This record gives sequence, structure tokens and C-alpha cells, in this order.
Amino acid sequence: MAGLTLRNVGKRYGALSVIQGLNLDIRDGEFLVLVGPSGCGKSTLLRMIAGLEDITDGTIAIGPKIVNDLPASKRELSMVFQSYALYPHMTVAKNLAFGLQNFKMPKAEVERRVAEAARILQIEKLMERKPRQLSGGQKQRVAIGRAIVREPQLFLFDEPLSNLDAELRVQMRAELASLYTRLGTTMIYVTHDQVEAMTMASRIVVLRGGHIEQVGTPQELYERPQNLFVAGFIGSPK
Ligand code: ADP
Ligand code: MG
Repeated sequence: MAGLTLRNVGKRYGALSVIQGLNLDIRDGEFLVLVGPSGCGKSTLLRMIAGLEDITDGTIAIGPKIVNDLPASKRELSMVFQSYALYPHMTVAKNLAFGLQNFKMPKAEVERRVAEAARILQIEKLMERKPRQLSGGQKQRVAIGRAIVREPQLFLFDEPLSNLDAELRVQMRAELASLYTRLGTTMIYVTHDQVEAMTMASRIVVLRGGHIEQVGTPQELYERPQNLFVAGFIGSPK
């Protein structure tokens, strides 16, 4: 497990500033939910933490280590995307194992991790199927499984359930909550679903136009939103 420290983090694409002066301490083992309108920089922030995007200003530290110059493959984290990004020509088992390929891990260890992830996500019976033979929920389970096999210190989720229908979303939400309870790993979770934010978060960060509008527990944000923008986002009565 690892906490995360963002100090004056900024991101520009050419002349366009999408994140400015972001400061945030994410505690070890925290379930931090990021919310904010479309285009406010949520995905960009996750991608910078993951190392998929350069940081223009400031520093990001995972645990005690500043990772600005550390390539994505060396960061001990896993990211789950909204689109499942499974390899269509590979079986579920191969999709799960694929992310471990670069780690020169003994075959038995790869098999142990794949079996463990399959058990946790209850996809053992699907291991020989190809992605096209899976439902949306099953695909997303495989995508989460692929994140789990790396046994990361930190999980990043970018709207992982937004492609699922409402019923399945409720079910997957409960599964993610129990996964979190079980692993106790630090999680940063982007969603635009208020219920998801309110029920899953230890703290919520409300982003707007690349800066933090408010940070607090779901209860704090609900009861004491700093302004109408936060109130509107959290669904509180202010
Ligand atoms: P969110 O995930 O909150 O919807 P994003 O992080 O995807 O927002 O995008 C934040 C802003 O950065 C948007 O204005 C988007 O158009 C812009 N942006 C994202 N990626 C790029 C890129 N590669 N080049 C230029 N602008 C980008
Ligand atoms: Mg996004």
C-alpha cells in the first residue's frame, strides 16, 4: 500500500492549462473519489499519476518516492479504464496474465496470481473464452482482474462502471467495495455517479476547471458544501 502526495501539480497542453496548482495528500489505504464535470481534468490527473502523461509542473510522490521521471511500467499501480481495453484475440486467462509478461516472473507465480484474481472476481468458468463471448459486466471483471494480478500498491479507476447498465452497476459497485475491504489498497476512483461517490468514498475531491473546489468526507461535503457548485455536484440541499 502507498499514499500519494501531489504538490503544485500542473498540466498544460501547449497553451491550454488543464490542471493548475493541485495539492493533495492521499492517505495510505484511502478510497479517494474524484468527481467533477466533463473536461475538468480527472482523466488527465489519473494519467499523470499512472505515468501515461508528463507532468508539466510540480511533483507527484507515491509513498515517499517522487515519480515524475519514473516510467509507467515501474510505478507500482494499476489503472482500470472505462473501455475495458481487453485484447480481443486472447482468452480471458491470457488477458489476465498479459500484464505480468514484463516482470520476468516464474510461470507458477503468474498462474497463482491469475487463479487468485479469477477467484476474487468469480470468473473462473470464463477463463477459456474470448472477450467477444463475454457480457459487459464480465469484461469489466476481467479488466479489474488484470489490475489485481499486478498486486499493486495503488489502484486508479477511471469511470470503470459507466458503460454498464444500472442494475449491473449496483452489483459491481458492491463488488468493488468488497474488493477494497479485502485488499485495503489505496484507491483513486473517478466517477460521475453521485451514489457511487457518496457510498464508496472515504473522501471526495470535487474538481472544477483543473483545480480543487473542495475535499472532504461524503458527510462533510453533503452537510457543508463550500458553494453551490459543490452542493450541485454532491446533491446536497444547500
Ligand atoms: P475529464 O476526464 O475530467 O473529463 P480530461 O482530463 O479528459 O477531463 O480533459 C481535461 C481537458 O484537457 C479537456 O479540456 C480536454 O479537452 C483536454 N485534453 C485532454 N487530453 C488532451 C490532449 N492529449 N491534448 C490536448 N488537450 C487535451
Ligand atoms: Mg475522463
